[in-house]
Amino acid sequence: KLTSREFHPDDTVVDVDGLKIGDGSMVMMAGPCSIEGLDQIMECARIAKKGGATVLRGGAFKPRTSPYAFQGLEEEGLKYIRQAADAYDMKVITEVMDEANLDLVCQYADILQIGARNMQNFKLLQAVGKTGKPVALKRGISGTIDEWLNAAEYIANEGNFNIIFVERGIRTYETATRNTFDISAIPVIQKLSHFPIIADPSHGVGVWDYVPSMALASVAAGADGMIVEIHPDPANAWSDGQQSLNEKTYLNMMEQVHVVEEAM
Ligand code: PEP
Ligand code: MN
Repeated sequence: KLTSREFHPDDTVVDVDGLKIGDGSMVMMAGPCSIEGLDQIMECARIAKKGGATVLRGGAFKPRTSPYAFQGLEEEGLKYIRQAADAYDMKVITEVMDEANLDLVCQYADILQIGARNMQNFKLLQAVGKTGKPVALKRGISGTIDEWLNAAEYIANEGNFNIIFVERGIRTYETATRNTFDISAIPVIQKLSHFPIIADPSHGVGVWDYVPSMALASVAAGADGMIVEIHPDPANAWSDGQQSLNEKTYLNMMEQVHVVEEAM
């Protein structure tokens, strides 16, 4: 298989317009769950950058559990996140939910995020594969490692070797956390595949006060990077406020992250 270590023994380094993912350094991505407006995403970019992030995250097309929940600002949001990222010299990662909006998202994004709910949307995987753009492939809510590797195979099979795995927790019987964050997926993927893997402790646990511990554990486990949700005012966030770090908790976490990084 194209995604396997047997096929490609050396680590693949994904190059996002000069930003390398998987080269041994830890790439930090941060931003809100949803883009809510220009001021909000600008403020998120300022905070993200202050903590050392080089990639700005933010959803413009949101895969919400309820059809009545906020669905995203769509193209307006894409314009705002691009503007904010450019202002702070950052890259953009944002979710593409369907083939219909793929060309549009490609105009604004540096990294295409495939959400957990779309991990096995094989037509979408083939379509992002054809773009050749960096793809961050989230693990499905109940996805096994083998299913996840096969999902990546659909992208690689289109000739796109710019794949980044994202561990974001899986569904188990446990309800104290939103998902069960599978730290072991980090060394397992690194053993089985040559592509980088980053951690999403925010969706992994779904509760902001548990995020820093899991972030530190991810760095210690050897993750190639991390993606976390931050918000200037989590209590009033339009989505995922309960798992978003505010400026202070994010910056505190990043101080500790840098300490563990240095120790590695
Ligand atoms: C997100 O990144 O906000 C998101 C919806 O993530 P996931 O697809 O992992 O649930
Ligand atoms: Mn979210």
